[in-house]
Amino acid sequence: MRVAFTIDDLPLWPHTPYPDGYTPEGIAETFIAGLERHGISGVYAFCNSWSLLERPELARVLDAWCAAGHHVANHTHGHPKLNEVEAARYIEEIDLADRHLARWTERAPGRYFRYTLNQWGDTEEKRARVKAHLDAKRYRAAEVTSWFFEWRYNAAFEKCLAAGDREGIAWLQASFLEFSVAQLRYDVELCRRQFEREIPGIALGHNVPFFADVFDGFLQRLIDEGLEFVSLDDAANDPVYDRAASVVTPEFLVYQQKLARAAGDRPVRIAPDARDDFDRVEAMAA
Ligand SMILES: [Zn+2]
Repeated sequence: MRVAFTIDDLPLWPHTPYPDGYTPEGIAETFIAGLERHGISGVYAFCNSWSLLERPELARVLDAWCAAGHHVANHTHGHPKLNEVEAARYIEEIDLADRHLARWTERAPGRYFRYTLNQWGDTEEKRARVKAHLDAKRYRAAEVTSWFFEWRYNAAFEKCLAAGDREGIAWLQASFLEFSVAQLRYDVELCRRQFEREIPGIALGHNVPFFADVFDGFLQRLIDEGLEFVSLDDAANDPVYDRAASVVTPEFLVYQQKLARAAGDRPVRIAPDARDDFDRVEAMAA
C-alpha cells in the first residue's frame, strides 16, 4: 500500500472551540513531531485563510509547519460547501485564500487545491465553472481516497472529556487504530476494483484534538501494516487522478466512491468489518 498523507483545516476555523489544554499551536506541534519521528516529510496542509485574518498570530502555525519541511495549499478562505453556494461565491473564496496564503503556498513545490468536503459540485454548471477556474489558476485538485472519520471520533472524545469518562477515551483511542486499518484496507480494495490495479492513495487527516492524541500510534500502526508513505506529487502524478472533479456528486464521498457511483455502483462508505465500532462511536458522539 502506497499512500500520500495530507492534513486539512490547519488551523481550524476560529469558531471551533478547543477543549481545555489544546491549542492550534500545540496540535500542529504534535503533528510535526509525529511526522518527523516516522521520517515523513513534505506533507501538504490544506488551509483556510479566514482563521488567519481573525487571529493573525495563527500565522505562526503555518510558519512552523513550513519550517519543518512541510507545505501549505489552498482549501478556500472560509470553508464554504460548494453544494450550498453559487459557483461565483466559491470562486471568490478560492481567490481570497490564494491571496492570503500566498506567502506559504508560493514556497511549496506544487500548487494544490482541495475541495471542501471533497464536493465537486451538485450541478454541472457549478462543477464546470469551478473546475475551469482552478485550471486557469493552475491549481491541481488534491483528491482523497481515504479518510478516517476522525471528526466523529473527536465529537465522541469531547463528550467523554467533558464527562470525565477515561474508559470511554481509552476505548475510542484503541478503536480508532483498528478502524483506521480496516478503513484503509477497504479503501485500497475499492480503488483496486474501481481502477483495476493498485494505485497510490491519498489519505487525509483532520486537525482535531483527538487525532493529534492518537497521531503517533496511528502512523506507527499503518507502517506496521505495510503502508509506505509517498509524496503528494508522486501520488497525484498517477493518471488515475485525471478524473478529479469530472462528475457531479451531491454526496460526501471519497474519489473511488464518486467514480463508482457515477458508473452506477453503490459502495458503502464504511468498511463493513469496522461498522460495529463506528456505530458505537456515532452513539457516543450523539
Ligand atoms: Zn476542510
